[in-house]
Amino acid sequence: MADIQCSLLVIIIDTNPVWWGQHFLQDNNQCDLFGCLDSILVFANSHLMMKHGNQLAIIASHTNQSYFLYPQGKTEEPVVTSDTNSETPTDEIGPRPSSDGRYELFTQVDEQITTQVKSLILGAEEGQLYSDCVVAGSLAMALCFIHRMEKQMHLGDKMSSRILVIKGSEDNPAQYMNFMNTVFSAQKQNVVMDGCILGKDSSLMQQACDITGGTYLKLPSINGLLQYLLCVFLPDPDVRHKFILPARVQVDYRAACFCHRNLIDIGYVCSVCLSIFCSFSPICSTCQTTFKFLGPPKILKKKMKKAVM
Ligand SMILES: [Zn+2]
Ligand SMILES: [Zn+2]
Repeated sequence: MADIQCSLLVIIIDTNPVWWGQHFLQDNNQCDLFGCLDSILVFANSHLMMKHGNQLAIIASHTNQSYFLYPQGKTEEPVVTSDTNSETPTDEIGPRPSSDGRYELFTQVDEQITTQVKSLILGAEEGQLYSDCVVAGSLAMALCFIHRMEKQMHLGDKMSSRILVIKGSEDNPAQYMNFMNTVFSAQKQNVVMDGCILGKDSSLMQQACDITGGTYLKLPSINGLLQYLLCVFLPDPDVRHKFILPARVQVDYRAACFCHRNLIDIGYVCSVCLSIFCSFSPICSTCQTTFKFLGPPKILKKKMKKAVM
């Protein structure tokens, strides 16, 4: 077995303010985004501590956009644009020394992420709030980032990459196509996808984890988020068989129909492009194939004629 020298972890955090707001009210203020964000940051720092070469990226999956929280500067436009902070240099290279004697990288990661999430949530306009998050887009960004980091590696170096999705809001069947496409790309790139579900079970994430060989876990309680992250998701996928982890769940393999984006058990499949439909239609709306209608067989027709005569 080849030695893997470092590991790249991409964390996708669902920052949907609608879901977090609802749960903040329901659970007697026990579950809030910034409390969970603290746990995620401890987990991220633990990943960086595991090995010197370990790398980290964190993407916020918001209601209408995906945003790189760390490392910064991966998207064109910053979240907050203010005219007054023109004197602060934006192209600062390397971590600044920290005041409390902490490892500089941790201070940098913590500060950047907390301020970015705050501005992301405060910057959302009322008309742009939906109850789901753009997780398929975030996954595509994560895969592109992993691909770029793999290309930038020196010859002979090896890197294992994985994506952890921490998701609370419900699945949006409208994202089914894009989501499954990213899952199959991840499988092809040998990227493991893990799912840490804070809210209701997500059939899309179950399928993603099953296909890429990752771990799917629906948390019984959000209060224990840090413990679950450290025990279940910190070990690399190739050493996980040595741990006693939660048992694999029964995967809900329903597909979404292409016409209404509903999840269906039984449906019609186009024989040309394999599109799925919940009801029969003579023309495939994806590839425009016209299906021939086979009328009743000829013998039957003759018999009918005779009967009429
Ligand atoms: Zn349909
Ligand atoms: Zn078709």
